[in-house]
Amino acid sequence: MTPKIAIIGRANVGKSTLFNRLIERQQALVSKIPGTTRDRNEADCLWRGQIIRLIDTGGLDVDYRDEIEADIAKQARLAMKDADVIVFMVDMRDGLMPLDSDLAKELVKSTKPVIVVGNKIDKAKGKKEKWNWPLGEPFPISAARGTGTGDLLDKIYDELKKIKKKPADIVEATDTRIAVIGKPNVGKSSIINSILGEERYIVSNVAHTTREPNDTLVKIKDKHYILIDTAGIRKLAKVKKSTSLESMSVRKSINTLRSSDIALFMIDVSKKPTVQDRNLAGLIIDASVGVIMVANKWDLIEDKTTKTMKEFTTELHKDFPFFTWAPIIFTSALTGQRAKKIFDIVDKVQKARYTEIEQEELDEFIRKAIRKQKPLRGKGTQHPTILGIKQVAVAPPRFVITIKGKWKESINASYLRYLENQLRKQFDLTGTPVKVGVRTAR
Ligand code: GDP
Ligand code: GDP
Repeated sequence: MTPKIAIIGRANVGKSTLFNRLIERQQALVSKIPGTTRDRNEADCLWRGQIIRLIDTGGLDVDYRDEIEADIAKQARLAMKDADVIVFMVDMRDGLMPLDSDLAKELVKSTKPVIVVGNKIDKAKGKKEKWNWPLGEPFPISAARGTGTGDLLDKIYDELKKIKKKPADIVEATDTRIAVIGKPNVGKSSIINSILGEERYIVSNVAHTTREPNDTLVKIKDKHYILIDTAGIRKLAKVKKSTSLESMSVRKSINTLRSSDIALFMIDVSKKPTVQDRNLAGLIIDASVGVIMVANKWDLIEDKTTKTMKEFTTELHKDFPFFTWAPIIFTSALTGQRAKKIFDIVDKVQKARYTEIEQEELDEFIRKAIRKQKPLRGKGTQHPTILGIKQVAVAPPRFVITIKGKWKESINASYLRYLENQLRKQFDLTGTPVKVGVRTAR
């Protein structure tokens, strides 16, 4: 269950502004958390790969002209009933108002944690008055500017921890969509049957928003996964490039692949990779999904030693150089060896896809990265200067660096790859694509 956080306070303190700020930030990162809904006054907010549900009581149908005090009390009681943590907002520009005191009187009755937040600090800087805040000194933020909002979310998470509630983990709160991809005869059906046969937990006829008719919903250790139907993608392996890639059915298959979270890229480890394998790998790369390489038919490899897996890993990295960041699992669909372990790795990769790195950490990161290797010049004579880095999306994580000058090309593309590798070294980004783009600033 996703914990609920209610934002309460008298009219115009900035409740809706904070609500929208937190939601928009999340929507900028990922257009929509899969499988969740947004109501008028409630929405999920993603922070550090975990989800909380925000309630904006300011949007409730409270008539402020009429019996203000009664309504305020109603608002407070509603929040006390529904929420796990209450965010009580006051206006630092106005200072302590009678209605704030009334609300505070209601809130002291609450058994739930209350965080007092002082909004509009951007306009309250010069104020020297000392207010005797009934519930303690407010936590300073500016909802309109976003100042202190990340710290506020951290504080909310801390309060949840104290009452032994956990924000919903993105991996637990949503169903991971998995596409099993590989050329014919590598063992796709066998591995799926091995998983399903063993688990016998196939959930059928379940109303499910993210499920297409031919998708299979699997339950493993109380968690749902959706194996998406890749019949179309299977045929793709045979399709020649260019002209045939235009056809409707092919495009539909590519869309199916894009709609998955993670591709299990399956190969027959007993045979040398072929052009067909590489074509499929190319499609997976284009789809920007998470990738796990499943090296199947491991039972056919004879005389294995403790080093064999490592040797095969090195070979596979050479064969598929674009997938060096993808975890490899050596399986046998025939014996079932490690088939179920795939899901542990799926969880890890899904978590990595939703990695969110804080701005302070990114600032520190880029300083170090530049110190280690100066930006390389691309086209033109201008020597590139990096002004900063920012994360702009999750699933997969996308970053943008800002450079001085007019031309994006003035930074060498290889330097972006260097940054990607450094990000991978410092943060856990196993199995997820990572994109680093460029923006210019005069
Ligand atoms: P609500 O009634 O509590 O939901 O308040 P609103 O979110 O509608 O905000 C009331 C007014 O305060 C609006 O005009 C906002 O633009 C303004 N406001 C909200 N947050 C801030 C802030 O951090 N600084 C400043 N200066 N104004 C803010
Ligand atoms: P698909 O076309 O990718 O779905 O491949 P299938 O699951 O139909 O498997 C193709 C052939 O490989 C069948 O004869 C399977 O029995 C065999 N096979 C699949 N997985 C394994 C494995 O792990 N080890 C061995 N030895 N054979 C396998």
